[in-house]
Amino acid sequence: MTKPNLSQLAQNPSCMDDYDPNAMSVAQARQFIQQFLSPVTETETLPIRASLSRVLAENIISPSNVPAHDNSAMDGIAFRYDDAQENNLSLPLKLIGTAFAGRPFAQKIGAGECVKVMTGAVIPQGADTVEMQERVTWAGETATLQQMPKQNQHVRRAGEDLTTGQIVLAHGNALKPADIGLLASLGIAEVQVFRKLKVAFFSTGDELVSIGKKLAEGQIYDSNRYTLFGMLTRLNVEISDLGNVPDEPSLLEKTLLQAAQNNDVVITSGGVSVGEADHMKALLAKHGQVLFWKINMKPGRPLAYGKVSDSHYFGLPGNPVSAMVTFYQFVQPALSALSGAACRAMPLFKVKCTQTIKKNTGRTEFQRGSLSQSDTGEWTVAPLPNQGSGVLSSMSAANCFIVLDETIGNCEAGALVNVQLLEGMI
Ligand code: AMP
Ligand code: MG
Repeated sequence: MTKPNLSQLAQNPSCMDDYDPNAMSVAQARQFIQQFLSPVTETETLPIRASLSRVLAENIISPSNVPAHDNSAMDGIAFRYDDAQENNLSLPLKLIGTAFAGRPFAQKIGAGECVKVMTGAVIPQGADTVEMQERVTWAGETATLQQMPKQNQHVRRAGEDLTTGQIVLAHGNALKPADIGLLASLGIAEVQVFRKLKVAFFSTGDELVSIGKKLAEGQIYDSNRYTLFGMLTRLNVEISDLGNVPDEPSLLEKTLLQAAQNNDVVITSGGVSVGEADHMKALLAKHGQVLFWKINMKPGRPLAYGKVSDSHYFGLPGNPVSAMVTFYQFVQPALSALSGAACRAMPLFKVKCTQTIKKNTGRTEFQRGSLSQSDTGEWTVAPLPNQGSGVLSSMSAANCFIVLDETIGNCEAGALVNVQLLEGMI
């Protein structure tokens, strides 16, 4: 599919339905960015441990059944179900041997015979059913069943996990701990993955000071570079931290061009608004193709997206919470698509909100929320008290976003609201 030309779209809004740079919705902006995201094509072959969190560039086809043989799910005895059936439990089963996990019993079981089996042991030929040892009565070398078994009980079937020839993991899968375990269960030692994305970032602003230096009056420490470092590190991309750059056009220009030359993606924070020290817009007009959006969202506008040379550019707002919200809502999905990962919407869950929320319709809000379990065991959410876009402690305290879309106005306490989890198990 050929990608549309960004500058054409920017100049010719009719190219895109509902295009309005002053009032783009969150969903439209996400969709808009998606059109320009061609995934990386270069791949590398890695040992499976090193492939954790990387994106598969091939389909993994199962070379064998897992498990390879019918095996016992219990410590007990294996026997012919027909013996129990025909003799209504009265027939003692003669013990003819033992099968351990990894050490099968080589002979075939006949009528009236049984073999002791350990969990994971291959079911001996002729046997089809297992009874757990707690339900077997022994008299010397003969066993009697204490209750009527079900045919095939406690037998794990060959291929019940994976079957020869099936696609086990598809191209575009970001590999999780279970996935690398699954690869190991098939004896696969190496996989082909897409190369890591290269992402550079820098902060902009005359007021910013790096940690380790003293603050003069009116200065603040640059925190966005640290939150960006954290969020990007979690995404397993190759990062270049280019520091903080004052609101000085020539320095910003130099840093931007250098970043774009060596990276797939450039992210800046600050300087994308309409203030007198906000230079990124003019710079991007000079060197790239850019659309500045006032997205209908709070917090998080403005947000810039465009291209500088071949690299994608995201200009995040300087306010620390806005920078994080726009990263999670726009940059993270974009990086995922550029990494070759199959597109997945972020899950939303409906949860009861314990407090009233005041809100205007017409824009999407991402409130910082605390999801917790009440005394009755029900999970509920509460917005954190200070929702200011500069209040980074609200992001630190939050474990979810409360996502209130454009159609939603004031919410009564007890109403169901959408939440997006910030914390995950994997
Ligand atoms: P701007 O988007 O440049 O207008 O900045 C908006 C607000 O965010 C201002 O109060 C800035 O001081 C603050 N800010 C900008 N960049 C950073 C940063 N890297 N770390 C912390 N605060 C920042
Ligand atoms: Mg600024």
